Amino acid sequence: MAASGGGSSYRNGTYRGSLKGDRPLSVNSNPKTSVKPKPFSSSGPRRSSTGSIGASTGAACDDAGVPGRVRVAVRLRPRSAEEMMADADFADCVELQPELKRLKLRRNNWDSDTYEFDEVLTEFASQKRVYEVVAKPVVESVLDGYNGTIMAYGQTGTGKTYTLGCLGEEDTAARGIMVRAMEDILADVSLETDSICVSYLQLYMESIQDLLDPANDNISIMEDPKTGDVSLPGANIVEIRNQQSFVELLRLGESHRFAANTKLNAESSRSHAILMVHVERSVKGKHSALSGENGNNAHITTLKPAIIRKGKLVVVDLAGSERIDKSGSEGHTLEEAKSINLSLSALGKCINALAENSVHVPVRDSKLTRLLRDSFGGTARTSLVVTIGPSPRHRGETASTITFGQRAMKVENMLKLKEEFDYKGLSRRLDVQLDKLIAEHERQQKSFEDEIKRITTEAKNSISEVERSYADALEDRLKYQKHYMESIKKLEEQLVNNQQKNGIEKVPVGLEDGGSALTSNIESPMISTIKEVAELKKLLQKESLLRKAAEEEVNSLKSQVAQWKRSETSENLKILKLREMLEDEARQKEKLEAEIAILHGQLLQISFEADETGRRLDRGGFGKVSGDLDSLLSQVKHQQQESGNGEKASIAKLFEQVGLQKILSLLESEDADLQIHAVKVVANLAAEETNQEKIVEAGGLTSLLMLLRSSENETIHRVAAGAIANLAMNETNQELIMDQRGISLLSMTAANAEDPQTLRMVAGAIANLCGNDKLQMKLRGEGGIKGLLGMVRCRNPDVLAQVARGIANFAKCESRASTQGTKTGRSLLIEDGALPWIVQNANNEASPIRRHIELALCHLAQHEANAKDMISGGALWELVRISRDCSREDIRTLAHRTLTSSSAFLAEMRRLRIDY
Ligand code: ADP
Ligand code: MG
Repeated sequence: MAASGGGSSYRNGTYRGSLKGDRPLSVNSNPKTSVKPKPFSSSGPRRSSTGSIGASTGAACDDAGVPGRVRVAVRLRPRSAEEMMADADFADCVELQPELKRLKLRRNNWDSDTYEFDEVLTEFASQKRVYEVVAKPVVESVLDGYNGTIMAYGQTGTGKTYTLGCLGEEDTAARGIMVRAMEDILADVSLETDSICVSYLQLYMESIQDLLDPANDNISIMEDPKTGDVSLPGANIVEIRNQQSFVELLRLGESHRFAANTKLNAESSRSHAILMVHVERSVKGKHSALSGENGNNAHITTLKPAIIRKGKLVVVDLAGSERIDKSGSEGHTLEEAKSINLSLSALGKCINALAENSVHVPVRDSKLTRLLRDSFGGTARTSLVVTIGPSPRHRGETASTITFGQRAMKVENMLKLKEEFDYKGLSRRLDVQLDKLIAEHERQQKSFEDEIKRITTEAKNSISEVERSYADALEDRLKYQKHYMESIKKLEEQLVNNQQKNGIEKVPVGLEDGGSALTSNIESPMISTIKEVAELKKLLQKESLLRKAAEEEVNSLKSQVAQWKRSETSENLKILKLREMLEDEARQKEKLEAEIAILHGQLLQISFEADETGRRLDRGGFGKVSGDLDSLLSQVKHQQQESGNGEKASIAKLFEQVGLQKILSLLESEDADLQIHAVKVVANLAAEETNQEKIVEAGGLTSLLMLLRSSENETIHRVAAGAIANLAMNETNQELIMDQRGISLLSMTAANAEDPQTLRMVAGAIANLCGNDKLQMKLRGEGGIKGLLGMVRCRNPDVLAQVARGIANFAKCESRASTQGTKTGRSLLIEDGALPWIVQNANNEASPIRRHIELALCHLAQHEANAKDMISGGALWELVRISRDCSREDIRTLAHRTLTSSSAFLAEMRRLRIDY
């Protein structure tokens, strides 16, 4: 629950007071009553869930939200059998005019009060109709990513549980709002991409118990200080995938509620039952991130993370509204009675505060109001159904129920769309894609390498085979040649021999016609020679043929070699080509990796821009002057980032264009937005040491302190305290702050602050002041130490670290003063009751807290005047621990030295038999 964000201009609801004495409506002089309320079911935003990312970004950061009033319906229960009998002679105490949306509450027989509601549901209204007018718009808005709340308020027995929780198992038409809401949600979501989770709880005597696991009780509420989201990390959350499991779960919860209340000896009407349904929907970019996912030429086309819309539906079956008897006659002590009613009365107070637009809404007063912080009167859409009975006997309770409903109608809600980008999902998908590409690339590279190896081996084999057969052929050829040469030589020798022989016998041959005796004498050698020649000729012919064949063979081998050589060249070409392909592939891989790097860059850029947009929307536009300041501020920041000496120039520019005086004068502006803006500018300037003197001289410190007093806006408090903390780093300014009662102002701010950041700033400022030797007494006198200790109620570690720092600073100054003899007696920290907290946190797991406290303890321990308190307060044990275990050697040594130089500590350690 939160204070409504807007001024009166946001109001679109109507003010409707009770119209006394049954006068006609037109007589009523309040002009606001003439404004007709919007139809119950059609108001508020039904946003389109499609639309571009850009448009959705706007929606996601739409800080202004959408206004909408809490819608209130009144439902009358039919007379029960018992009432039929007992009240038979009496008329109902109420009369409904549903067509006019009016209810008349009888005062007596002749007089009645008239009230208008957003919806008036008679005793005949069906459960379906009740669901449609009361709950459906809220459920739709939850499906669109808003928070929504449906509550039933009324006296016990008037039908709250019937309206909300009826399971309708015997009569399906009797199904209540919870069951119907889940039916609608299940019908609208897609279970592949969306999720529905449910918790079911009971709140009794300010303790939250899990109805799904009753042993789990005293569950604590967590609030996100940044978003204001409320959660119950200790509660069971069950994912719902179908209607049947949800009904089972409701039945289980109901049985546990009954059993738990019986055990506690409590009536179930005194407890609140709370059903929480978390709906997460992925609305955009589901399929957008990558295309061509399984191809090796996959490449990234867009970088659009899915948007997750988160809506939370809270259905609250409130405890009975009848006043509890505080005398304890119902068997409760007074304390119990107070506690039982606490949450309901806190809800009433918050509704009153919200209805009156009061600045302070006491949300923190009860568990129920804390739980509903983000669901009612804040950033959610809310419907309230007030249930009443007809019996005149309960007229008083009925009247107060109606008044409650009337007040709730004035509560303004500011709806906030809850969307966030699914960067994680996108990053996961990119990673998966990258891994796929890497694996694919590796596979390809391996197969190319294998192919090249194979071809190379083949080519080598062929070449060596060709070489072998070429060598064989060459050998053959040489053999033939040798053989041939030998044969020729032989023939020549024979020829010479023959010629020599023939030379002697030539004469008779020449004398052909000589005597036949002679002829017959020479005939026989001649014939043999001729035969021999013929034989030789034949041999020669044969040799020639052989030679020819050999030559042919050599030729064919030559051509074979040539052919192999050709094929070798072509194989080499192939290898070259494959090499090129491989290189191409490597280049492609590099390109993809570069693309991925760019995409990662873009992702960062987009997140950064989204942050910036968020911040810009946070600041909003506040007109010309603030716009100028804004741009100047960003220039200042920008230049400071860019160059160290740009600082002077940019401040000069700021002074030149707007002037510090003008900026400071805006701190007193009537316009709250402008004021916030101005204080942010001053805080930014004050963060720079060089500007601090100028700001103080121009009266900025005084203005900032005044803001703590005059403003009620927590943002202003936070930023102003931050600026003061920065200014408080300098001794002169510290004195100025003290002179202007800064401590009381800071302590007051801390006492009223809820935001841990405000507390951190205030604690930081006081911690700085604690380090000034001259201001010790005054600081303590004005309640500085108490103020500091008061802030430990906020458990935020950053706040605690500042508190610890302040204490350490103070202890150090004090220790110095004691040593110099300007201070006597025990420490003011001990006087003001800081010791228990110091001891408790001396071993805090957060190291900044622990370090400061360890130092503070060492300082305190250096003076005997503190020893007694430290021993009785348990600080001695901590000092012993520090001297043994502290990870920082200097602190360890300091603790050791301190312990061994104190006779009181040494005596106590001896007494306790601490071996030291
Ligand atoms: P509550 O939760 O406010 O204490 P219940 O829902 O338990 O009240 O209602 C009391 C009784 O009245 C129950 O028996 C319920 O069935 C009955 N009842 C309540 N409202 C209606 C209705 N509109 N029509 C019929 N019966 C109703
Ligand atoms: Mg009930």
